[in-house]
Amino acid sequence: MIGKKIPHSERIYMDHAATTPVAAEVLDEMRHYFNERFGNASTLYFFGNEARDALHEARKSVAKLINASPDEIVFTSGGTESDNTALKGIALTNREKGNHIITSTIEHNAILKTCKFLESQGFDVTYLPADKKGMVDPRDVEKSITDRTIIVSIMHANNEIGTIQPIEEIGRICRSKGVIFHTDAVQSFGKIPIDVKKMNIDMLSASSHKIYGPKGVGCLFARKGVEFVSLIHGGSHEFGKRAGTENVAGIVGFGKACELARKELKNEMERETRLRDMLINGILDNIPDSYLNGHPEKRLPNNVHFRFKHIEGESLVLHLDMKGISASTQSACSSKSLKPSHVLLAIGLSEKDSHGSLRLTLGRDTTEEQIKYLLSVLPETVEYLRKVSPCV
Ligand SMILES: *Cc1c(COP(=O)(O)O)cnc(C)c1O
Repeated sequence: MIGKKIPHSERIYMDHAATTPVAAEVLDEMRHYFNERFGNASTLYFFGNEARDALHEARKSVAKLINASPDEIVFTSGGTESDNTALKGIALTNREKGNHIITSTIEHNAILKTCKFLESQGFDVTYLPADKKGMVDPRDVEKSITDRTIIVSIMHANNEIGTIQPIEEIGRICRSKGVIFHTDAVQSFGKIPIDVKKMNIDMLSASSHKIYGPKGVGCLFARKGVEFVSLIHGGSHEFGKRAGTENVAGIVGFGKACELARKELKNEMERETRLRDMLINGILDNIPDSYLNGHPEKRLPNNVHFRFKHIEGESLVLHLDMKGISASTQSACSSKSLKPSHVLLAIGLSEKDSHGSLRLTLGRDTTEEQIKYLLSVLPETVEYLRKVSPCV
């Protein structure tokens, strides 16, 4: 098998947490907005109206997925920009009120690096720990809030290990203390139910390319009344919260992707959960010394994350690639320059253990046959690598 050239159409994509293909319906909807309906949404004549209507429809669709109002949705270039806008926007707006920010050690770098930057600008950041399963304790949030706290940012679901946080409870605590609660929901948005009202969410980041929409577009939800300065200055686009001519085609695609996600959410959640559990149980039953990372129940329907003793994650990914499977790892032990995943270290894994990790994330195109193929290939690959492994 090794060395054989596997054509594109026969490859198995198991990295939907990294990105997803654009759905056919999404692309169909988008294509009109490149040439025929090419207008600038800020203009007053026919073509502008057409673009403006399209933006409005997309905004309604995005809002509906999370039970928000269309005027609470600001379109951005994606999850990273939304996270930056939430933290920096609130920090700059509330400097008089306080300089304290609360987040967790397992956040995406779009949050962590932004917090590091804000620390360099005089803000104090509390990084709350996560337990072995990757859960942040709402009581820790409560204990950490002071009268100088301006924002709490805790992700909804972790992009590496898939753990889903108790954000409804965290939101309740923040609301009762009058502190703004932001959540990076890039991995959960469109995959599990989100209701910003019920969950007491003040701000939420989402990204289109993680839900079968195009790359380079996303949104920041900000509840009515939550004030934050814009990071990008210019025209009065996006309610003055994000200047720049809107990426109309991209936003239309994002809107369509949200509509599809909403319609398919329940079925797809059940279908992927079943395949996920088939994969998890198959690995546990057939590969000795394999450990599931993250929470066994409170995890994303599409996330499988394993640690295999005496294995290097990178070698495993490369060997699986040769067998036509595209998967992910965060680490490598042969190259000392590559740091182990901050998430795995945060949930208590040693540097050595964190190196043997494999993330498989399922999607709409994942079939039961693919899971079976994976389960037929993975045990022998792990066994082979253990024999030749330098990680002992
Ligand atoms: C992918 C991801 C982001 C970044 O989103 P982009 O749209 O790629 O910038 C942020 N947070 C989480 C949890 C993610 O998984």
